[in-house]
Amino acid sequence: MSLVLQSKIYAVNFDMTKEKALKQFFGYDAFRPLQADIIDTILSAQDALVLMPTGGGKSVCFQIPAIVMDGMAVVISPLIALMKDQVEALRANGVAAAYLNSSLTTKEQYEIERLCESGQLKLLYISPEKLFTSGYLDFIKRLNINLFAIDEAHCVSFWGHDFRPEYTQLKILKSEFPSIPVVALTATADRVTRKDILVQLGIPDATVFVSSFDRPNLSLSVLPGRKRINYIQSFLLQHQNKSGIVYCLARKTTESIAESLQKMGFKAKHYHAGCDGAYRSQVQEEFLRDDIQIIVATIAFGMGIDKSNVRWIIHYNLPKNVENFYQEIGRAGRDGMPSNTLLFYSYADIITQTDFINKSEAPENQKELLRAKLDRMKQYAEADICRRRILLSYFNETVDKDCGNCDVCKNPRQKFDGTILAQKALSAIARTDQKVAMSLLIDILRGSHNRNVVEKKYDQLKTFGTGKDLKGEVWADYLFQLLNNGTIDIAYDEGHAFKLNDTSWKVLKGQQSVNLVQFVPYEIKKAQQEADETPVKTKKEILRDELFEKLRTLRKQIADRERVPPYVVFSDQTISEMSTHKPVNKVSMLAISGVGQLKFERYGELFINEILSFAKENTIKGDTRVIKGMTYVVTHDLYKEGQSIEAIAKQREMTSGTILGHLLKLREHGELIDIQQFVSESERKIIQQASAGLNLDNAGVLTELFNRLNGKIDYYKLRIVINQL
Ligand code: ADP
Ligand code: ZN
Repeated sequence: MSLVLQSKIYAVNFDMTKEKALKQFFGYDAFRPLQADIIDTILSAQDALVLMPTGGGKSVCFQIPAIVMDGMAVVISPLIALMKDQVEALRANGVAAAYLNSSLTTKEQYEIERLCESGQLKLLYISPEKLFTSGYLDFIKRLNINLFAIDEAHCVSFWGHDFRPEYTQLKILKSEFPSIPVVALTATADRVTRKDILVQLGIPDATVFVSSFDRPNLSLSVLPGRKRINYIQSFLLQHQNKSGIVYCLARKTTESIAESLQKMGFKAKHYHAGCDGAYRSQVQEEFLRDDIQIIVATIAFGMGIDKSNVRWIIHYNLPKNVENFYQEIGRAGRDGMPSNTLLFYSYADIITQTDFINKSEAPENQKELLRAKLDRMKQYAEADICRRRILLSYFNETVDKDCGNCDVCKNPRQKFDGTILAQKALSAIARTDQKVAMSLLIDILRGSHNRNVVEKKYDQLKTFGTGKDLKGEVWADYLFQLLNNGTIDIAYDEGHAFKLNDTSWKVLKGQQSVNLVQFVPYEIKKAQQEADETPVKTKKEILRDELFEKLRTLRKQIADRERVPPYVVFSDQTISEMSTHKPVNKVSMLAISGVGQLKFERYGELFINEILSFAKENTIKGDTRVIKGMTYVVTHDLYKEGQSIEAIAKQREMTSGTILGHLLKLREHGELIDIQQFVSESERKIIQQASAGLNLDNAGVLTELFNRLNGKIDYYKLRIVINQL
């Protein structure tokens, strides 16, 4: 990345309010919940701790104070990739920012230090290692620092999942710079970590801001883990050009799936901790730049990926706990646009995960904890109520209504009294001395005479064949439900044999009933899921999506030229708004969320031209219904800019008469349009004099008048005056 700053550095401006900064530099009209309060706290020189989910909008909470206040902010960030990303995004918005870390040459570093000293930077990103190299704090002391922001602040805590020893030294900041506010930010919300951050950073009195962890733009779905690759293929065909990540448990799986997808013609690559460093950074970069669409990865991928236009996440396997799952799906839709998440859930995964825990070296109490966490993950996957409720309750948030954006909400589950079914299964478990696992139990219930059954004489049991009316997969589903609702236990250490517990006996004796969720065949679930993911579009929406694609292509060209990821030019959200509202002038373009001053200056015209040419193309295609609307909008926008009829006609390559027609139509529809202003007083006089003696009701009167004036005054002006428009 070039270290040369933009020629335009916005100097400190004492009139700059946080609202103005949000609009001018980021192009946003309103703060999200909590952002304004957090900024005010920092501006009044108080410490703050900010807990927001990934994509919640933490960055502006420290970037705006840095811009508004005199001096500069120092941002401590643990990941080089993340720093680079944020600095690129800030520069693209016209904010003077730079980073210092081990990836720079001495000369580059020196250049940045000079910029700091001469007060030309608003934000300096620095790694903790760099900050604590000898003498660096003395350098920092010489600068005019207004704020320390500590990103990924959970790294300071032993309890957090990415503990970094260097982070524990950050306490020095508060003791060495007691009057400078410190803001710590993280997406890790648990209470222990939260408390620890305050202690470790020496900011016990910091105001703590906890935002909701809900991400309503992420749809949530679960499908049985069958024919997964086929499903992914059809999903991808429906989501062409949209970036996403497939998470797998095993490294090998990432490789084989990536290969299958490549063979199907998709731009996919694998990624795991065993790949070499150069390959990994290359894959990451290609993904950021939209050069490859799909990453098939283990949990190793994603930390420090700031890409805002990840549109979907698929979990090929069940993650081991809800924290991991939530963090992984959280990488989708950071720009706030609708994004899909899908989890494949299979019994085999539960077995794998449980075996993994059991065979690990961890002490028993820790294994207990891991099992309990896996159980909560299962609960999510097995949910027969709104899945978002389950996720949010895990993070101690209560919700008062169903989300409407998960598969359970969209296709509510049918329940029935499953007591008799359960009794059949429980009795079979009892009569086999609690020694059989899932598949053998199903064989017994269905009365199949396979070798295993016959050898053990299970075909002579009273329960043999009592469940032959149901298919094997149906039984598997119900047994799974009985396991999850606690009617049966399972002994992972005895070959996954089913066991009876207190509840089992109560059900067997008819003292307690059991509700089950009606089995839905895979094909139907799949069809429902596909229908949810691909709503039928109106003609207008199809056209909007076509324009979106055009703008996306333009964005990619610009991004490649400027060597930044496309979402740094404009987010998906921004170009989506453009394709809906079709802005074709400065005012309407600046009204689009995400179009700030500098971005307008740089790209505004390119995008306006693209929108105009799209409108024109579609006029030629002759799709009258949509196009008509569009062509009027374009003319109206230019009119509102104060342009003359000739100027509009020239720009739109249409005749003045057509433009006049547009304006008359707009007026008919109630728009305030002043037609008479297009004729000057002197022109009006000339026209009136020349028309003396003509019968104004005659059909050819305008042509005759035009000839009388030797064509010196435009025909449309004659119309305006004579017809008193
Ligand atoms: P986090 O660091 O919390 O993961 P970011 O700071 O990267 O999230 O913000 C996520 C996305 O939301 C970014 O694209 C950002 O520009 C956008 N965003 C932040 N604040 C606002 C706002 N007030 N209005 C609209 N978009 C916003
Ligand atoms: Zn829901």
